[in-house]
Amino acid sequence: MAKSAASQGSSSKGERKIELPATMTVKHLAEMLGISGVEVIKQLMQNGVMAGINQSIDYDTAAIIASDMGFEVTEKAEAEAEAVACEEDEGDLQPRPPVVTVMGHIDHGKTKLLDAIRQTNVVASEAGGITQHIGAYQVETHGRKITFLDTPGHEAFTAMRARGAKVTDVAVLVVAVDDGVMPQTLEAVDHAKAASVPIVVALNKIDKPGVNLDRVKQQLAESGLVVEEWGGNTVCVPVSAKQKKGITDLLESILVVAEMLELKANPDCAASGVVIEAGLDKTKGPMATVLVERGTLRPGDPLVVGETWGKVKAMFNDAGKRVKKAEPATPVKIMGLSGAPQAGDTLVVAASERDARMTAEKRQLERQQKIVRPVRPVKLDDVYAQIRAGQAKELNLILKTDVQGSIEPIRDSIERVEADEIKVRIIHTGSGNITEGDVLLALASKGVIIGFHTTPTVGAQRMAEAEGVDIRFYDIIYNLIEDIERAVKGLKEPKYAEVTEGRAEVRAVFSAGKKDKAAGLMVTEGKLRRDSMVKVIRKGQVIHQSKIVSLRRFKDDVKEVATGTECGLVVDGFAAFEPGDIIEVYRREKVG
Ligand code: GDP
Repeated sequence: MAKSAASQGSSSKGERKIELPATMTVKHLAEMLGISGVEVIKQLMQNGVMAGINQSIDYDTAAIIASDMGFEVTEKAEAEAEAVACEEDEGDLQPRPPVVTVMGHIDHGKTKLLDAIRQTNVVASEAGGITQHIGAYQVETHGRKITFLDTPGHEAFTAMRARGAKVTDVAVLVVAVDDGVMPQTLEAVDHAKAASVPIVVALNKIDKPGVNLDRVKQQLAESGLVVEEWGGNTVCVPVSAKQKKGITDLLESILVVAEMLELKANPDCAASGVVIEAGLDKTKGPMATVLVERGTLRPGDPLVVGETWGKVKAMFNDAGKRVKKAEPATPVKIMGLSGAPQAGDTLVVAASERDARMTAEKRQLERQQKIVRPVRPVKLDDVYAQIRAGQAKELNLILKTDVQGSIEPIRDSIERVEADEIKVRIIHTGSGNITEGDVLLALASKGVIIGFHTTPTVGAQRMAEAEGVDIRFYDIIYNLIEDIERAVKGLKEPKYAEVTEGRAEVRAVFSAGKKDKAAGLMVTEGKLRRDSMVKVIRKGQVIHQSKIVSLRRFKDDVKEVATGTECGLVVDGFAAFEPGDIIEVYRREKVG
């Protein structure tokens, strides 16, 4: 009989420890937990996951089941073939340039500003090169570099986050002063805040006649961005992308904000990074622009990029020039991959091309088997289970309503929900339909969308279904609040108490079948029922807990045995009885 993890050197409930891998089959999990596969499938169903015995589940899901059973769960560090170590000791770290994303309302001048920045501040060594759009570029001001991602917008930013790539250090929020703060400005603010990325405001189009900067600053203050000159801590720089005015001031402000972040990386190790954009070039084959995050990337490096692999044949910078190295926060376009990866994929230098290929192939296989790893969306119904498993410390909500006027009363009620172990955070509010941007934000921030008198767009609905994002619809505030309360307090989960039904003492041990051992018992209290759960107690410690396999008197199977009677007992998964052990039988009863 397989010895269960639960019985290996374990003692009472709560002290049992288990290490689980990043992915495993349901069957494997059942073996590790020492329970049947069917039991695991049932538990998964209770947590809203449908999986067959041979299907794979991820660590997060398995951890919920294991912690429900009283295990202390840790994730087993998985040694992937590509792991070429990069030491991150303080002494090895060097300052690195900040990576910046430009956001803001449509037509406020994001693209124009990115162009103006690039034209006025090309890196000295690149001057004269032909500007290439590779998805990111670097500029230099007073000898210090800044990397800009040149796909503007909070959607692109959050889409990368949803894929697990957190590349942006600072967000530049462009607000056209003739138009002021608009819905997408507010969205951008919420997206940046949800990612804890500091914001520098660029007040654009100051060349327009009759502009009133104070009006815009007032609007910004109303949305929580109080400018420095009014005593707040939002850095705000007036610019004109059209006339290329204020650009240097803006860059300097970005550097000041970035300085506080103390951005550092070790350049002297094997590189790792993230894909900014990728595609197939007619002559050069698969090409990918990557942003190096750690280490230095060089031609000849074998690498794994998402599900693709290869060796860097050549690298080009944003001026189209061949380069021999790319240090942290540097974007380069690389040639030599087996296929085109996807934006947001990670890049890691491998020990050899063979290792790189093996890892890439393993990832392809895992995807085909539908193992979803990086981000596991949150369902309102699982929140409580996640709190208990120590995986959730906050519940992020995105609140969309039909009319602006409903937002405040609902926000007030939600903020009054008392939750001891979890913080309920409203990361974004807005009126109108639930959009794809909302779904992305929920995915990236592990949030749940609340729709009050509103519905999703067709695209958002599809995306939510495909990604497993939870959208909840309500018409009555009371129901909405009640659901959130239930989720954070676990009221939906029935609570069980153990009711002891009887005790017996082990008097003898004998063989039962090939491997099993039976205990000869004397029932000392209550009664033993065939259907009960059972604990084996030795010297006051619970050494095993499972169910009864057989209960006999003489040669007959019996349903129950009363006090003062002898009987034989076989316990599931346990054979190491010793005379003097106490057998306690109990049932689980629903309470509350
Ligand atoms: P995006 O949608 O935010 O990327 O905005 P664009 O960069 O495409 O700019 C929208 C429009 O505003 C274009 O017609 C630009 O020429 C214009 N624009 C951008 N910046 C300025 C500026 O500083 N001053 C003026 N007057 N117009 C600008």
